[in-house]
Order: sequence, then structure tokens, then C-alpha cells
Amino acid sequence: MNSGDGWTTCALGHRHWGLFGAAGLLLRTPPTQDRAVGLQLRADRSHHGGTWGILGGARHEDETAVEAALREAGEEATVDLDQVRVEASYVDDHGGWAYTTIVASASSTMPLAPRNWESDAVRWVPLPEVDGLALHPGFATTWPLLRDVGPAPVLVVDAANVMGSRPDGWWRDRAGAARRLRDQLAAVPEGLPARDLATVAPDGVRSFPAVVLVVEGQAHGTESVDGVEVVSATGSGDDAIVEEVSRRRTVDRPVRVVTADRELRARVEDLGAQVLGPRTLLDLLSRPA
Ligand SMILES: [Zn+2]
Repeated sequence: MNSGDGWTTCALGHRHWGLFGAAGLLLRTPPTQDRAVGLQLRADRSHHGGTWGILGGARHEDETAVEAALREAGEEATVDLDQVRVEASYVDDHGGWAYTTIVASASSTMPLAPRNWESDAVRWVPLPEVDGLALHPGFATTWPLLRDVGPAPVLVVDAANVMGSRPDGWWRDRAGAARRLRDQLAAVPEGLPARDLATVAPDGVRSFPAVVLVVEGQAHGTESVDGVEVVSATGSGDDAIVEEVSRRRTVDRPVRVVTADRELRARVEDLGAQVLGPRTLLDLLSRPA
């Protein structure tokens, strides 16, 4: 495994650390608290020392940006990764080198402090104070874009309805079709385009929704996997979906329902959920990041 430690020059002529690019964690306070972000004062002897930026560093060769950002944050500061929920990502591509910012929410205002030599300080900075700091040039570019990115939604998927919208032989093997859909939903390590999920975000931001797949009938027994929670409807599938929407909607977590069923649409919209069509979801899943 190559750690990616090393200097490289991007197409814009800058020198950057990280042979495979770099990634960092833009950590936000819980949405119910006064808004603040966890920032690092870079140690004097580091690149751009004395500026404020986000925790992060070089990506390893075999790492996703999410894995790299979480690992670096855990190495550099007292970030309790069990209390961090990944919500969105944004790639600042310089050509030949790119920096991926992972936007995440903390479930508590955990105490933040440096864990190694790379930071002189790590602390929660209230949003109105960020622009008054000497910012790292990379962070100064992305901060105005990312400060108001909306939370990743809960995506409740009407499995029977979505399966029915693609003629792939699902009627011969409903359980197999449900597993295929589940596995497709689980295989999005780069997230989905945020705006297509009706999330407030600039172009290029990708969102990491929590996915709930509601199955019924012969698809019962489909098991949950990493990234997709499967719910088996005991009675009507529509009732189970409505129940999931009521149970999961919170002030900080909007709900999107994927279905083309008009009656169901009206019921979940009454609860404040927005509805996406099956075609939209399938197109997003088949589009490369
Ligand atoms: Zn560059």
C-alpha cells in the first residue's frame, strides 16, 4: 500500500502534498446547536503554517476520499469518529491533483484538541468568525461554497415500485430483483449528486443519504447490508413507507421518498417528505461519479 506521502505539482502549477490527492473533514456542530465548524490552526512548520483549515491530508493509494478524511481527522485531533455522520463531498480538481472536502455532522460538540505535531490548535469556530481568520488558501476557496450545504436526506425507497419501472425480469424473481436494487444502492462510495436529491448545495456537491429500502411480498427476507437498511413490510407496503417517513423525519434530516405511486406520493407529501421518481433514482445509480 502506498501512503501517498510526497509532493506533486498540479496543472495550475501549485505544489501539493499527496501523490494521490488529499482529503479533509469539514466537521459541523449538531444542527440544533449554534453553528460552528471544527478547524485546525496549522503548525508553523507545516505547509501554509499559521493558517486555519480543516483536518485532513494525503490520500493513500487504495482509500476513498471519505476513508482518508476520517482517518486523517482521527490521527490529527480528538475527533470521535463514532459521533461523525458523513453528509456530502466536494472535489476541488486542479488537474493532476485534487482535494476532496468531506462535509460531516457531529452528533455532539465533542471536545476538540490536537493529537499530533501538525496542529497548533483545533477548535470549534462559530460560523460568523470563520471569515475573520487567516485561512488556508484551499479552504478559503471551498468554504463559501460549502458553508450552507444542506444535510444529507434519508432516502426511503419503494422497492416494488422502483423494481417495476425497469423490465429486467423482476417478475420471475422478485427477491433477486430486490437484492440487485439493494446492492446498487449500497455501491455508491462517492455519494449521489446532491441537487438531484433536492438538497441545497452548489453544483458538484455529492450527498450521502441514509438509505431505507422497503420491501414486501416475495422480497421479504432481503437482508440489510452496509449502507442500506432493508425494512420488510408486514402489511401493505405503502403503510410501511408512510410509517418509515413519520418515524425518521427530524428537523435536521429531510426525507425523500422514491416512488411513482400517486396515492403514496400524496400521503408522504402530507408528512413533509419530497418525492423522487424511480427513473431519477435509477439514472443517478447508473451515472458514474
Ligand atoms: Zn493546485
